[in-house]
Amino acid sequence: IADEQTAGRGRLDRKWFTPKGTALAFSLVLRPTKEEKPFLSRVVGLAALAVAETLQKLGLAAQIKWPNDVLIAGRKVCGILIESVWSGEDVDCVVIGIGVNVLQGAVPPGESLLFPSTSLQDALGYPPERLEVLHDILAAFIDIRQQITSDEFIKDWKNLLAFRGELVQVETNAAPAIVGSVTGLEFDGSLQLRNEHGESITVRFGDVRLRPLA
Ligand code: ATP
Repeated sequence: IADEQTAGRGRLDRKWFTPKGTALAFSLVLRPTKEEKPFLSRVVGLAALAVAETLQKLGLAAQIKWPNDVLIAGRKVCGILIESVWSGEDVDCVVIGIGVNVLQGAVPPGESLLFPSTSLQDALGYPPERLEVLHDILAAFIDIRQQITSDEFIKDWKNLLAFRGELVQVETNAAPAIVGSVTGLEFDGSLQLRNEHGESITVRFGDVRLRPLA
């Protein structure tokens, strides 16, 4: 756990801001069991669910912006970065980086952001105790981890998806942006959209960025 990050990063080396004393910035090292190994693509959902459910218990309507962010009222309050460590063909461990904007001071200046952001303090109207939030996220993580192989897990993840039934645009590096409404999740956690022709489209993990189509 870090009190400050001077070179925090998101996906593809995008910068993640953690000014001193204002946020939670921590990494969890998950050593998957044999049973969990076929479900590693769900780990980002496990982390997002642990954060979103913790924020919901604080009375906040937190939602998951697939694949790796947690939002409150459409604003980003948490970013998650998953990296796997391989030994040959086998995954040795998964490093789960989680950043949560706890105090107002954690929110980066507007012009440097590609997506609107907020903090728990802004959303709650008072500054929560950082370590209590950390404790609750860890407790939720341990609890939800036990269900990672179940169908219930995907259902819970789907129920917390932001923009369900709404039109979004998904940008990838490889192809033109996909536009569709969010319908759900595949077994592996990939995102399901329905396009304007009523066709079902699956968006896989990777370099994808999801935006509401305002
Ligand atoms: P996006 O959130 O724009 O859809 P992404 O999910 O790929 O993209 P991440 O890799 O999760 O983004 O995070 C990096 C981005 O998050 C940065 O480009 C910056 O715009 C934004 N960011 C950086 N620090 C914070 C912070 N403390 N709170 C909210 N957003 C931040």
